[in-house]
Amino acid sequence: MIDAINVRKDFPILSATVHGKPLIYLDNAATTQKPECVIQTIDELYRTSNANIHRGVHFLSEQCTQKYETARETVRKFINAEKTSEIVFTAGTTSSINLVAASFGERFVASGDEIIISEMEHHSNIVSWQLLCERKGARLKVIPFDDNGILLINLLDSLITERTKIIAVTHASNVLGTINPVKEIIAKAHSHNIPVLIDGAQAAPHGNVDVRDLDCDFYAFSGHKIYAPTGIGVLYGKEKLLEQMPPYQGGGDMISTVTFDKTTYAQLPLKFEAGTQNFIDAIALGSAIDYINKTGRQNIVEYEQKLLGYATQKLSEIDGLKIYGKADQKVAIVSFLLNDIHHLDTGMILDKTGIAVRTGTLCTEPLLSHFNIRGLVRASFSFYNTFDEIDILCENLKKISLMFK
Ligand code: PLP
Repeated sequence: MIDAINVRKDFPILSATVHGKPLIYLDNAATTQKPECVIQTIDELYRTSNANIHRGVHFLSEQCTQKYETARETVRKFINAEKTSEIVFTAGTTSSINLVAASFGERFVASGDEIIISEMEHHSNIVSWQLLCERKGARLKVIPFDDNGILLINLLDSLITERTKIIAVTHASNVLGTINPVKEIIAKAHSHNIPVLIDGAQAAPHGNVDVRDLDCDFYAFSGHKIYAPTGIGVLYGKEKLLEQMPPYQGGGDMISTVTFDKTTYAQLPLKFEAGTQNFIDAIALGSAIDYINKTGRQNIVEYEQKLLGYATQKLSEIDGLKIYGKADQKVAIVSFLLNDIHHLDTGMILDKTGIAVRTGTLCTEPLLSHFNIRGLVRASFSFYNTFDEIDILCENLKKISLMFK
């Protein structure tokens, strides 16, 4: 079992005060805080090892290249991919999805084709596909969810046609917390020979991800949501698909030979890594994953599920508080509204008490439209949060409720 009090010592920012109050950071679905080891990795690299990768024969360049490729191997193991050639470093989930929409779309999507997403997607897994649809004259179709926030995957059969070229769904909703039955969706899609992209931005921080067990064709996630720096992320893609896809961007590192007549491209994964990569943060992502592994992924899952259960129960006891997202299988995210108090008012008053929650559309306007609301308050938890912090959140919500009576 995780000892959060001890774990917190690894995260320097968690001892900060905000408006004179101890920081209670419950905005982990937006970005997680960074442990000392990740901060140290970055500091040390810039002090001792910084040199551009893949290009130099000199000592520092070779050392950085080796660390970068070691980080790729760490990521491969983290999601149980078969080969490092299937691990492309990107700037984050959004970049990964855009890469697939652009490159897979260029190769495989034509006018009249269809792409299926779900009603609970983050904007990055909507707009990237809409851009492709606009370019190609393709059509977006949507798997709806019910009022508990559960995807109606029994409707998938009626959405799939011979024109369906890809299905892109989120593993876990950043608002409802719902963990979707992606393995089932993938199996169904594959029975029609349709590849599937999984948006893992909210699943990678909270559980074990096994891309081979899922049998997904693409899996995207962000480093900054799993205790690594911003600006680094991952696209996993099955080799046989990545091989068939054209480069996304042109530039240094992604080529084999260049002449004015013809350019040939580098082997995977470098074909998709044009220009100087964010190698320092990729190496720091490796450190973050080492830290997660050391803490124990199963320990993290169990502790966060306890936090989720406790928060759901305590929040449900508050008069006039409505939780959005009531699936049985959830990651540690609870979104809610308090009576008819505006979400921004709730968030701003909580901030004055040192509590950081997210408010607004949460980059999911179509999801909010389902409930006919304009915004939500979201508390999202990490294994460094405590049960006491949840109590303080609830006490303050009760006070806010009284203030608006
Ligand atoms: N998908 C989901 C489910 C998310 O929660 C987020 C970010 O909150 C994203 C995609 C986009 O991630 P990023 O902004 O790191 O690219």
